[in-house]
Amino acid sequence: MNDEQIDELVGMVQRARRAVVFTGAGISTECGIPDFRSPGGFWTRYKPIAYQEFLASEDTRLEAWRRFLMIRETIGTAEPGPGHRAVAELVDRGHVACVITQNIDGLHQAAGIPAERIIEIHGNGTYAKCLGCGLRHEISWVADEIARTGRPPACTSCGGIVKSATISFGQAMPEQEMADARAATLDADLFIAVGSSLQVFPAAGLPVLASHNRTPLVILNREETGLDGLARLVLHAESGPVLQAVVARLAGG
Ligand code: NAD
Repeated sequence: MNDEQIDELVGMVQRARRAVVFTGAGISTECGIPDFRSPGGFWTRYKPIAYQEFLASEDTRLEAWRRFLMIRETIGTAEPGPGHRAVAELVDRGHVACVITQNIDGLHQAAGIPAERIIEIHGNGTYAKCLGCGLRHEISWVADEIARTGRPPACTSCGGIVKSATISFGQAMPEQEMADARAATLDADLFIAVGSSLQVFPAAGLPVLASHNRTPLVILNREETGLDGLARLVLHAESGPVLQAVVARLAGG
């Protein structure tokens, strides 16, 4: 970890009052949840099932649910890591106004950040929804239904297709969340992207928007990203230790 870079980041955070922290799967790898693109990650072994494929075939829906329930076993038992706790502390200290997350694991909420300060632009994997009438269904109910019938579940109210409340490739982004995320980005006085390859659009358009809006952009990621050239500060490092060091220095430690 480069001390000068941490000092620079501490200075930027100290001056910020409306910072946005934008997180990707990398902030949760310390919690045992594999990211999307790192070698050996769950997702590298399976090609993602696109939304249209999910809609088109009952067999594909069953396979999608089978994979989802496997991932759920890890996500369901994961605890917030050092990165989540540090971001929660920065919110608490009044430097960070809002967390925009691509993650579906609910770990920012579990770290104690109030729900109204978190924008989940790729949905939430802790529950399921009917694509027809929007009725919420619990994941445990889905698992029981699949075990009972051997088929993907149908909505108990309208018989529609039930899907995890996450956004799949090819699925429309949630309008309200994207509008909120854009507004928070335009209002930000600092934008810090953490643990994201910044390859998934439109999500990765948010750091681009911040940069075009002349908001200082910081990218903290283990490896290079395609947007490093836009950033005021780039740290190629583990996110948890860096964010913890920032919090410790702000506290005078
Ligand atoms: P990604 O896998 O494309 O990128 C993650 C990046 O984080 C990689 O560049 C990797 O090098 C870096 N990284 C991994 N561990 C790190 C660490 N400890 N410190 C610093 N950097 C680290 O993930 P993405 O950009 O979030 O896009 C993948 C999509 O898949 C997202 O939209 C998300 O919805 C979904 N996803 C979510 C979860 C989750 O909820 N935890 C997990 C996997 C994928």
